[in-house]
Amino acid sequence: MSSKDERPKSGPPTASEKPLPVPDGDTKPFWDATRQHRLVVQRCDDCSLFVFYPRSLCPSCGSDRLTWREATGRGVVYSFTVVHRAPPQFAADVPYVIALIDLEEGVRLMSTIDDPPSQIRIGAPVSVTFDDVTTDITLPRFRLALD
Ligand SMILES: [Zn+2]
Repeated sequence: MSSKDERPKSGPPTASEKPLPVPDGDTKPFWDATRQHRLVVQRCDDCSLFVFYPRSLCPSCGSDRLTWREATGRGVVYSFTVVHRAPPQFAADVPYVIALIDLEEGVRLMSTIDDPPSQIRIGAPVSVTFDDVTTDITLPRFRLALD
């Protein structure tokens, strides 16, 4: 056994080491829109259901006629948690809020709320903001709505 410490010496992870979405055939339109600071969700042309996460078939009627629609970007907090112990890539961000957001369109998505955790309440109105993480990926995040 070597007495040398062979563990790599490295500083804290940087933001660029955070995992990022990898757009695919179903999700590329969503990520193209967020890059333009627009939030879009799919709507079924046959049964009118709004659909999220992005997919190729309607989960209600099985139709493949899903059309991207502009969302209002407004919603309410369905539930949330405050992260105090995070994976290394997110350690510098604690405490932070991960929330399930119910959009006005009727779909639920997971995101962050960039306000102090003590101000977040279930049912609180929120609105989308956009975080240009890289030149290719913009993440939708949320803030408490003031109105
Ligand atoms: Zn449908």
